Amino acid sequence: MSQLSVDGLALSDEQRLVRRSVREICESFDRAYWRERDASGEYPREFVDALAENGWLGALVPEEYGGAGMGTSEVVVMMDEIAAGGGGFSAAQAVHGGIYNSVPLVKYGSDEMKEALLPKVAAGEASIQAFGLTEPNAGSDSTSIETAAERDGDEWVVNGQKIWTSRVDVSDYLVLVARTTPKDDVEKKTRGISMFLVDLEAAYEQGGLEVEEIPKSASGFVHSFEMWFDDLRLPESALIGTEGEGFYQVLDGLNEERLVIAAECVGLGRLAIERGVAYANEREVFGRPIGQNQAIQHPLAEAYARVQAARQLTYDAADRADGAAEGERGSDDARAAIGARANVAKFLAAEACFAAADAAVQAHGGFGVAREYDVERYFREARLTRLVPITQQLALNYIGERVLGMPRSY
Ligand SMILES: Cc1cc2nc3c(=O)[nH]c(=O)nc-3n(C[C@H](O)[C@H](O)[C@H](O)COP(=O)(O)OP(=O)(O)OC[C@H]3O[C@@H](n4cnc5c(N)ncnc54)[C@H](O)[C@@H]3O)c2cc1C
Repeated sequence: MSQLSVDGLALSDEQRLVRRSVREICESFDRAYWRERDASGEYPREFVDALAENGWLGALVPEEYGGAGMGTSEVVVMMDEIAAGGGGFSAAQAVHGGIYNSVPLVKYGSDEMKEALLPKVAAGEASIQAFGLTEPNAGSDSTSIETAAERDGDEWVVNGQKIWTSRVDVSDYLVLVARTTPKDDVEKKTRGISMFLVDLEAAYEQGGLEVEEIPKSASGFVHSFEMWFDDLRLPESALIGTEGEGFYQVLDGLNEERLVIAAECVGLGRLAIERGVAYANEREVFGRPIGQNQAIQHPLAEAYARVQAARQLTYDAADRADGAAEGERGSDDARAAIGARANVAKFLAAEACFAAADAAVQAHGGFGVAREYDVERYFREARLTRLVPITQQLALNYIGERVLGMPRSY
C-alpha cells in the first residue's frame, strides 16, 4: 500500500469485495488507455464492457431480476475505485447512467417493464444509460421543463427539446422527464410531470427524435447531446410510475445518486494527489526533489486532508442512507438528514477534488498542461464536478435553506 492509502475506512466485507474486484478490472486499463480516449473522444467501450460482463452495471438491480442487489454503500466504493483507478471522473461517468437509471424502473416501473428489461440490464445486454431532464430553459430550475407528453388514444405524443442528455449514443433506452399537465394548470409546479421509458432505436425509426452532440472541453469521451422530439409516439406502457408524480419520483433516490457523484469526485481527487506526489518526489530542481518545498508539499497535503474528510463523510452518509432505506424510508426526518448529508458531501467532494487537481497541476510546473502527464485532464474534470449534476451553488442553496433555515433564493 502506498502512503496514500486511506484504508483506515471501516469497510464492510461486501465493500472490501467490491473494492478488490473493481480495482482488478481497472488495473487492466492503463493511463495511456485513458489518455487516448480523452484525445480521440472515443467512448471507453472495452472498459464499460469489462464492467458489464462482470455484472457491475446491474449493481442496483435487485437479485430477483438477476442483479447484484447492492446499495449505495457498495456503489460509492465502486465509483470511488473507478475514478481513482486511472479513469477519473469521466470513467465513472461513462457507466454512471447505466447503473443509476435502472433505479426509477426498480422503484416505479410496472411488473411487465421490470420483467422485460431489468434482467437484460443486469446481464449487460441492454442499457439505460441516458436520462433526459435538463432543457435550454430549465437547468437548475428543473420544474420549468416544457417538453410535453400528451395522451392520444392509447399513446403518448412527445414534443419538445432536451439539452445535455449524456450517453444517448451508447444507450438502448432513455428515461425521459416530461410535462403531462401544463405548468399553469397545476397547483404546484412540481406536479404534472411524468417519467417515460423511451426505446431509442424505435424513436429514431419513427423519425420522432433527432439528436446532436454538444462539443465540450471536459469528459470528452462521455458524449452529451441536444435532443429534439417531434410528435414522438410512445405506447401507453412507456409511462414509469404514476402520471403527474414524476418529479417526486426523480427526487426519490436523488440524494443517494448525489452521494455516488461525491464518491466519483473523491476518487478523482485521490488520483490527482497520487500523480502530484509521484511527480513531486521524482522531479529535482535546484538539486533536490520539489516535494521538499513546502509550497509544493502543503497544497497536496491539504488536498489530501480535504479529500479524506469528504470521502469519510460520503461513505458514512451512504451507510446511513442504506440504513434509512431499510428502516425508516417514510420518515421525513430521515429523508431530510440524507438530503443534508448528500448535499454537504457533494459540495465538499467537488471542492476537495478541485483543490487536489489544482495542486497536482501546480506541482507539475509546465508539464501541468502537457497531456502526457494527465493532470490537466483531471483539472478539466475537477472543474466540471462543480457544475454537475447540480452546481455547487444549488447544493449550498439546499444547505442554506433546508438545513440552516434561511429564506429560499428562487
Ligand atoms: C457534461 C454535462 C453532462 C450533463 N448530463 C446531463 C444528463 O445526462 N441529463 C440531464 O438531464 N442533464 C445533464 N446535464 C445538465 C446539468 O444537470 C445542468 O447543466 C445543471 O443542472 C445546471 O443547469 P444549467 O446548466 O442550465 O445552469 P443554470 O440553471 O442556467 O445556472 C447558471 C448558473 O447560475 C447559478 N444559479 C442559478 N440559480 C441560482 C440560485 N437561485 N442561487 C444561486 N445560483 C444560482 C447556477 O448555479 C449556475 O452557476 C449535464 C451537464 C453537463 C455540463
